[in-house]
Order: sequence, then structure tokens, then C-alpha cells
Amino acid sequence: MSAKWYPLDNFICPVKKCTDKTTGSWVCSSDRTRTYISQTGYIRCGTWNHHDLICNWGWNCGSHGNHSVDKYKKADAQGFSFALSQAVSLLGEAGSTWVAALANEIGNQFDRR
Ligand SMILES: [Zn+2]
Ligand SMILES: [Zn+2]
Repeated sequence: MSAKWYPLDNFICPVKKCTDKTTGSWVCSSDRTRTYISQTGYIRCGTWNHHDLICNWGWNCGSHGNHSVDKYKKADAQGFSFALSQAVSLLGEAGSTWVAALANEIGNQFDRR
């Protein structure tokens, strides 16, 4: 299956220790475009200027503190899986095959480190 991209809308922050569990639409901080996720385990922005594995992506929901080193945090398997499980409309739209492939990718990515 080739990569199929869905926008990260109504998606909670996947950073494990983050207490902010409100959903939001994620935009790229550099070019202000929407971000997208594929079942191949990648996230990209609308311009493709930023394209990386989920485990390498930095997340800033606005609740990680004001210092620049605190703002962008990486997700972990548990946090990301939880965020994905809450993204009901995405899961419904993408379908079970896509979701299973992504869950498998998340397992592989975060196991490696
Ligand atoms: Zn970008
Ligand atoms: Zn957060």
C-alpha cells in the first residue's frame, strides 16, 4: 500500500507527559501549513519541506513551557498510540488496514530507540 496522507486535525498532543489533552489542528511552525500523517509512519507539512518519521517529529501544543528547549517535545509509543485512539474521525476515514499499518510502524519506530 502506498502512503496515504490524512491531515492531523482534532488530534491531541502525543507527548507522554503532556497534560494538555485538548484536540487541535497541527500546523508546521516554519511555513504555517497543515501537517499530515501516513500509515508508513511519517509526518509531513503541506509544502513537503518538513517530512520525518513520527519518532523524530517535534510537537508543540503550547503547554510545554516557554523556554525554547521545552517547547518541542518528541512523542513516545504510549502517548502517540493514545492520541491516535482518540482521533475517531481520522480512524474512521482512514480505515482499519491503514490504522493497523500505522500501529505496526509506531511499534517498530519506538522499539528501535
Ligand atoms: Zn513545514
Ligand atoms: Zn503537549
